[in-house]
Amino acid sequence: MSIISDNLKRIKPSPTIAVTQKARELRAAGKDVIGLGAGEPDFDTPDNIKDAAIQAIKDGDTKYTAVDGTPALKKAIVEKFKRENNLNFNIDQITVGTGGKQVLYNTFMATLNKGDEVIIPAPFWVSYPDMVLLAGGKPKIVKCDERDGFKLTAKKLQKAISKKTKWLILNSPSNPTGAGYTKDEIEDLAKILVKNKKIHILSDDIYEHIKYDNFNFFTIAQISKLKDRTLTMNGVSKSYAMTGWRIGYAAGPKDIIKAIGKIQSQSTSNPSSVSQAAAVEALNGSQDFIQERSNAFKKRRDFVVQSLNNIDGISCLTPNGAFYVFPSCKGLLNKKTKLKTDSDFVQKLLEKENVAVVQGSAFGLDGYFRISYATSMENLQKAMDRIKSFCENLN
Ligand code: PLP
Repeated sequence: MSIISDNLKRIKPSPTIAVTQKARELRAAGKDVIGLGAGEPDFDTPDNIKDAAIQAIKDGDTKYTAVDGTPALKKAIVEKFKRENNLNFNIDQITVGTGGKQVLYNTFMATLNKGDEVIIPAPFWVSYPDMVLLAGGKPKIVKCDERDGFKLTAKKLQKAISKKTKWLILNSPSNPTGAGYTKDEIEDLAKILVKNKKIHILSDDIYEHIKYDNFNFFTIAQISKLKDRTLTMNGVSKSYAMTGWRIGYAAGPKDIIKAIGKIQSQSTSNPSSVSQAAAVEALNGSQDFIQERSNAFKKRRDFVVQSLNNIDGISCLTPNGAFYVFPSCKGLLNKKTKLKTDSDFVQKLLEKENVAVVQGSAFGLDGYFRISYATSMENLQKAMDRIKSFCENLN
């Protein structure tokens, strides 16, 4: 009898973390690897946030806190939703966890019964299906077309709904495509959801602040008829370059928030007290650097999209948010190149040119790959030269 549980056999390790680890190993072995696999900003956490953490340590904020977040942080989150999204929540509608990842994990653990379905538009963030599986639920993957900007359409949503549908996950701007849903697009989906009253919506807004070209961020809880059925997840990791601090949060129905807290109380307890103090400063302090950093990301996005579209066999949409692009490599998968799948493409690229990217199939859509451009322009220039040379020498 295996010591490993049947539950665990249902899931696989995160493929994006695996790519980053592989790149790290190759680097340690002396190879000049450029890693475009990681999903974190290369910028440092702003000084005012670091200072708030140092002050918290000095003030003795080093003890257990309330399991699902300090009153100060919950208040800052309530104000954030009011200020930025025109959404009103009470303190008891807020929960704070060790990263958005824990909040999502707890949500599925707290709400899914065996066989409950969760609609996940693909391409998706790699952790959604595995978290659902671990909680005993059933991921219902809906493939979204490049010609729809990789976004879920009302027609596809309608088709995916069954009696067992418990959640729909929306992630805008998206990891891995960078696509953001417009207000009109969300309203189209909402029409279907208003009619299907049993479905809850999980809106993952973690990339809210990283957006370009005057894209107007809109989140589905802003549709008043759906607010009572929506859990809005967000966090400080991406917007404030705080991936290592591990603070994420959610706002939504009181019963779900309470259930999430119950799981947390029997697993990790509160997120780090010091990180919570830092997150209060992130949300309440100056927001000026968000725009500055988005400007830097935009320059990189433009460079990467243009460079990729100059390569024969590669084509790439221009995303309006996050720090990823999701180009197609279908034009290079043929007998001549001897590449059959996006995984072949990604593996050969790493072997031949030492550039680490992630295959689209890891995100539920074959024939593509994901590039994270959250790295220096110098690295991106080198990487684009190498990808071009790799693709041109395949035939
Ligand atoms: N949601 C999406 C779409 C992400 O890309 C990530 C991180 O990569 C997360 C949630 C979780 O972020 P964190 O746990 O750092 O808050």
